[in-house]
Amino acid sequence: MLKAKIGAIIFLIIIVGLAVFLIWGRERGGGVTPQDLHLAKYYEKLGSKMVRCNLCPNRCILSEGQIGICRAKKNIEGELYSIVYGQIVASHLDPIEKKPLYHFLPGTKTYSIATTGCNLQCKFCQNWQIAQVFPWEVSSIKMTPQQVVEKALKSGAQSIAFTYTEPTAFYEYMLDIALLAHENGLKNVVISAGYINPEPLRDLLPYIDAYKIDFKGFDDKFYQEMTAGHVGPVLEAMKIIKEQGVWLEIVNLVIPTENDREEDFRNLILWIKENLGTDIPLHFTRFHPDYKLLNLPPTPIETLQKARQMAQEYGLKYVYTGNIYDPEGSTTFCPESGEPAIVRQGFFVTQNNLQNGQCSDGEKIPGVWE
Ligand code: SF4
Repeated sequence: MLKAKIGAIIFLIIIVGLAVFLIWGRERGGGVTPQDLHLAKYYEKLGSKMVRCNLCPNRCILSEGQIGICRAKKNIEGELYSIVYGQIVASHLDPIEKKPLYHFLPGTKTYSIATTGCNLQCKFCQNWQIAQVFPWEVSSIKMTPQQVVEKALKSGAQSIAFTYTEPTAFYEYMLDIALLAHENGLKNVVISAGYINPEPLRDLLPYIDAYKIDFKGFDDKFYQEMTAGHVGPVLEAMKIIKEQGVWLEIVNLVIPTENDREEDFRNLILWIKENLGTDIPLHFTRFHPDYKLLNLPPTPIETLQKARQMAQEYGLKYVYTGNIYDPEGSTTFCPESGEPAIVRQGFFVTQNNLQNGQCSDGEKIPGVWE
């Protein structure tokens, strides 16, 4: 009888202790345990325990207990913390062509990871199940930067890709991994919407080897309505990436009736030509109905091919189509001779005729080839 009573009391103590721990953890981190918290970078204290995050153009002002727009940062007792650091919700070994990066180590694999979070709210988000959620809403595995790098090395990848969601949301984690990856001979690639402030971007770039920007559309009204962001900071980010000598490729998802006017294409093409030059690869990719844009049809193939043709006519040398079967639109051509340099089928390279990035006539194609 006494034994049973003691057992019941111990059981009660354990249950109460567990409940207290969980409630405390929820209070402190918004559903993540205290050990998941990691002090954020680029924030300032505003007094009365309020902080402003300066990592991205949203510049969230957060009072105690509030979480940023990205759902990845929280003000806890007047300090800003990352609440996604080390919590991986997706990891795969992908062909680099899937990102897509076409002028970066073609035919290699990249160890691709993501935590939850995004600082934009695109109505057409294709990864909304992990991008537009709080960290406690999906299951994750915990990995230190060291473990990520070890896993990448073991997998045979030549690079680590920060991808699937928005890497700016897990900036602190990305930076720590990128540093270690370089020390271990791996390259780093960022697949991003480019909605990041200049200072953190400049601080990150020395550890990044390629940046792919998902450019949404040239019109700021479109950006505001479709993504809750603005186009200006993205244009600025692309200029900084180019200036700092990091390899850059741009993807423009073409959405029927939303950003598929000739004027939209022309504005983007001319801006790239004037500000980044004609060597930057530009990919026009097909939209598929997803998330909050289920009412629109997939992009007609002819629209993508017309956009590609227009970019070529304006002098861009490396223009591709994506998410469709288009052998010509997925091939890299030597601009002078017109010979195929790299032929791809889906995400796979079927022919690579380049020698150290040079065509047979000696013409050099810009990119990272070794
Ligand atoms: S990174 Fe997150 S918390 Fe910081 S300003 Fe951007 S959306 Fe807000």
